[in-house]
Amino acid sequence: MRRPLIAGNWKMNTDRASAVALAKAVAEKSGPAKHVDLLVCPPAVYLASVAEALSGTPVALGAQNVYFEDNGAFTGETSTSMLTDLGVEFVILGHSERRHVLGETDADVAKKTLKALDAGLAPIVCVGELLEEREAGRTAEVIASQFEGSLAGVSEDQMASVVIAYEPVWAIGTGKVASPEQAEEVHADLRRLLSERYSPALAEKVRILYGGSVKPGNAAELIGQPNIDGALVGGASLKADDFLGIATAA
Ligand code: PGA
Repeated sequence: MRRPLIAGNWKMNTDRASAVALAKAVAEKSGPAKHVDLLVCPPAVYLASVAEALSGTPVALGAQNVYFEDNGAFTGETSTSMLTDLGVEFVILGHSERRHVLGETDADVAKKTLKALDAGLAPIVCVGELLEEREAGRTAEVIASQFEGSLAGVSEDQMASVVIAYEPVWAIGTGKVASPEQAEEVHADLRRLLSERYSPALAEKVRILYGGSVKPGNAAELIGQPNIDGALVGGASLKADDFLGIATAA
């Protein structure tokens, strides 16, 4: 049985005080969400403050990115050891904003995934098609190619700690959520890819999250699909009540 994971991607939002307040509110109100794993991913500069706010609570801490080299001459980057030093357990990799705004490639995502796994971080590897790719009937092909490219070199043992997030780019921050059927089709495809590349047993273990305009009102139907194991939440993760509303609906 896969335990649902509800992850909040705060993106480049909050300031120090509001990040700490949001983390505390999520932890304090998390009682009714005991059946799921809760995770918040604040901006890198607030990870330390949020780590302190979450200490002793069941809410896990994640980063939104990491670099694939060890400490050294890489101006502006953050290493895996810096994250683990702060108690970070998860890291979002290959988010569509990093792919499409910042030019990150599948090869970059694969290097980061391997580096994160080496450091004991659980990568949340994001995949998702553009609207024009969906309209051209290329969704399955795009997802398969991102799956192969972004997870290149990951062993079956390592894959057991990876989380996959399917986030159709046209649904991110747009209010246009994928229908439960559209999402489930891609999730089932991803599980088949896991089964073919690794094993049916491994495929049953890996959590596949849906992301893209998840709200308390649409979460139950999405997460109720057989192959949807939780949500990666952007906008709605910035309000503790909305985020926990999604978690309790799961
Ligand atoms: P959204 O973002 O919930 O605001 O659509 C999801 C994401 O980008 O992870």
